[in-house]
Amino acid sequence: TDLAKNDSSGGDVRLSGISKTYGAFTAVQPLDLTVPAGSFFALLGASGCGKTTTLRMIAGLEEPTTGTVELAGKDVTALPPYKRPVNTVFQNYALFPHLDIYENVAFGLRRRGVKSVKKQVGEMLDLVQLGEQARKKPQQLSGGQQQRVAVARALINHPQVLLLDEPLGALDLKLRRQMQLELKRIQTEVGITFVHVTHDQEEAMTMADTVAVMNGGRVEQLGAPADLYENPGSTFVANFLGTSNLIAAEIAEAGGEQLLLTAGDTKLRLPAARCSASSVRTGEKVLAGVRPEKVALAHADDAGSIPEGVNRLPGRIKDAGFIGVSTQYLIDTQRAGELAVYEQNIERDGRLVPGAEVILHWNPAHTFGFSADQDIT
Ligand code: ATP
Repeated sequence: TDLAKNDSSGGDVRLSGISKTYGAFTAVQPLDLTVPAGSFFALLGASGCGKTTTLRMIAGLEEPTTGTVELAGKDVTALPPYKRPVNTVFQNYALFPHLDIYENVAFGLRRRGVKSVKKQVGEMLDLVQLGEQARKKPQQLSGGQQQRVAVARALINHPQVLLLDEPLGALDLKLRRQMQLELKRIQTEVGITFVHVTHDQEEAMTMADTVAVMNGGRVEQLGAPADLYENPGSTFVANFLGTSNLIAAEIAEAGGEQLLLTAGDTKLRLPAARCSASSVRTGEKVLAGVRPEKVALAHADDAGSIPEGVNRLPGRIKDAGFIGVSTQYLIDTQRAGELAVYEQNIERDGRLVPGAEVILHWNPAHTFGFSADQDIT
């Protein structure tokens, strides 16, 4: 819509050393963060990690204890919320129950004294695909539709940054998944910066260009979703973004493109570029990991057929569950405790049942590693 393209191009968000303490409690540790204009950025973390507080400091709803907030190149730290080029969408929508959908969306324009609102409201309703529902009251709409009204009502004010605080939290899982794609489409269409707070890793990964994983009031890791998933830099991030198989190991040979690790009498290879340990040298303790869908399973009797040059680890099947798209195995290993393996499209081998001796194997390229002496959470 031309409405979207007019004056609502995205603004960047720059946080410099912002922190928030409540009495003796630090909710957000000093934080530096830049969100590029026009990107979809997610703050991801468990309850209490400080993501909402961070969002509220961007909105101006919370005063930072230290640091500055810049929006679109302008220091807004001292400005109240309504003077910032932002709008916030909350989980509870906060629609006006006595106004119909059209008037809910028109509200911001009318308040600013805009006389002819019809074209803009019409475009906004089209953008969120609610043109047909204009004359209904909020309570006549589904949760997902109400959420889209809330988004339209915020966007009509031409914010340069839209802040979303768990906006899909009240929806059931299926609707939530639909709305994730819908919000992503809207963001792409209007091109403004979205900063989205969620505790749902799948949601952050589906929608965002960049995800900041927060833990204990600080950003633990920042990156593109696939990069965070494939190269987690800590136990917390590895576990928060999915199932991780972590193996305690030691660097036995460094210097080449591949590191050689030893975990007891097992040798593993790890691409040096995928090891985020601060010092990569012989004797360094690391955690090596591999995602369950990257690991294949061979019955111990077939060990001879495993290709050369792959990582391998012996174990015994503890549990096997067929879930349609894959079979999920839980394997007991001596070296690394329980590991998960998701096998797709395999001919179901009648021998791969609980109790069977197996060998897990995977391409070393799929291995990631990080320093083992970090705080383990
Ligand atoms: P949630 O998803 O549960 O909202 P969150 O990651 O968004 O969690 P915040 O709401 O940012 O977390 O809160 C971070 C921490 O700061 C929490 O431990 C919370 O109890 C604390 N906190 C937040 N607001 C206040 C306040 N006004 N006074 C005291 N402590 C607060």
